[in-house]
Amino acid sequence: MKRIAVLTSGGDSPGMNAGLRAVVRTAIYNGLEVFGVKRGYQGMIDDKIIPMDARSVSGIINRGGTILHSARCKAFREPEGRAQAAENLRKHGIEGVVVIGGDGSYHGAQALFEEHQIAVIGMPGTIDNDIGGTEYTIGFDTAMNTAMEAIDRIRDTAASHDRIFFVEVMGRTSGYIAVIAGIAGGAEEILVPERKTDLPALIESLREAREKGKSSMIVVVAEGDDAGHAIDIAAKLEELSEFRGAKVTVLGHLQRGGSPTAFDRVLASRMGVAAVEGLIQGHSGKMVGITNQHMMLRPLSEAWECPQHFDFNLLRVARVLSV
Ligand code: ADP
Repeated sequence: MKRIAVLTSGGDSPGMNAGLRAVVRTAIYNGLEVFGVKRGYQGMIDDKIIPMDARSVSGIINRGGTILHSARCKAFREPEGRAQAAENLRKHGIEGVVVIGGDGSYHGAQALFEEHQIAVIGMPGTIDNDIGGTEYTIGFDTAMNTAMEAIDRIRDTAASHDRIFFVEVMGRTSGYIAVIAGIAGGAEEILVPERKTDLPALIESLREAREKGKSSMIVVVAEGDDAGHAIDIAAKLEELSEFRGAKVTVLGHLQRGGSPTAFDRVLASRMGVAAVEGLIQGHSGKMVGITNQHMMLRPLSEAWECPQHFDFNLLRVARVLSV
């Protein structure tokens, strides 16, 4: 293998730049030429493929987002789109591709490999930590620290005004950010999509907390909770109970940006090295994952076939500690 390309695809996450830097520099270290594909698979189809060198990734390890930009691309879901993309890669002599993204991006990579025999390795980049085959995804640690800091700040106001605050964090299908940020921020209640929300039980628990002398209460809500968004749950609380004036903060895209934590920078750096070394060793159709502190290459399909199991014990920890 002489030439490889790297791209970021799907939702951005903090640490993707550190991952790009690692891929580019590992390629150069090993004597390969390396190209960057702009705007995910869209750039592959539109031939937005640019040569990169060690200096083109200088000064980005500490920056959120992705210097190559990211996008969602409908055309790549069709065989014609992927054929065009493969033709462009061949034109540049590119034999291997590292895709930094979520499981949607991995589906695309798998198809590119199967239909056009282009070697592909995935690196998990998403704040949701909802990809199988790895214990951590690039960006999750930063997002959960951002959510925790936000909860800390909200706690100051909640405590000063004896208020209930609902804090909505990201996580369409996964309550992982909610439960980690909730424990770290000392939340009284945590509502996640993995567990059915029982509103009467929530109200009872808030009453108990008040009776025990708690003057402020924080309820962390994952955006995909079955009872609705934080704003709907706060409205139902007002309708069904004596609690009045609960405040709602939706963290939204605040959690996607920002300078990556040391954990995410090191994770992305290690994964980038493992991805390029994997390509050089002849692997394809694989993803880099971390298990027990070790980098492993696993089939891409593990990302969607072996979903991470939500650790319900974390909810128990939160319950015990909010006594
Ligand atoms: P993520 O990678 O963060 O999960 P998406 O699900 O939006 O994000 O996927 C990113 C891109 O990957 C899509 O815009 C599309 O171009 C490509 N993709 C997703 N699913 C498939 C699929 N089943 N087949 C081919 N390409 C896909």
